[in-house]
Amino acid sequence: MRIYNFEDTTAEVNTDEMFMREALRLAQKAFEEDEVPIGAIIVAQNKIIGRGYNLTERLNDVTAHAEMQAFTAAANFLGGKYLKDCTLYVTVEPCVMCAGASYWTQVSRIVYGAKDEKRGYTTVAPHAMHPKTQIFGGILEEECGALMRSFFRAKR
Ligand SMILES: [Zn+2]
Repeated sequence: MRIYNFEDTTAEVNTDEMFMREALRLAQKAFEEDEVPIGAIIVAQNKIIGRGYNLTERLNDVTAHAEMQAFTAAANFLGGKYLKDCTLYVTVEPCVMCAGASYWTQVSRIVYGAKDEKRGYTTVAPHAMHPKTQIFGGILEEECGALMRSFFRAKR
């Protein structure tokens, strides 16, 4: 992944973009299934250990957000509930529930795409995240946001 790039900071950005593309692919899958198009993955040591996308319609469960699916998948993969040294990639800024879940998993890093001005945790409860969790927003923001906009436009 880093072979073609010799500048460390740039390499990290490219890696984040690469993983965000995978989360975006899952968001697209949600879109095709008529679910709010949000996708998430968990990465540990540059490997994807959990994937998820929004399943609130299919499961008839308001808690079935992409992040929750990915957390469960990653914990199953690891055989432990904590996600220390893992990164969560999610196409849209987490809501308060998912921020709370992130807190409990102790995930080290969160990278999100588009901001959610209405329901994002930074608007609703900025202290919901664990203080040690590093958070980066705006990775592939345009593409992640565009998918959401086209979903809600079609609903109107
Ligand atoms: Zn959520």
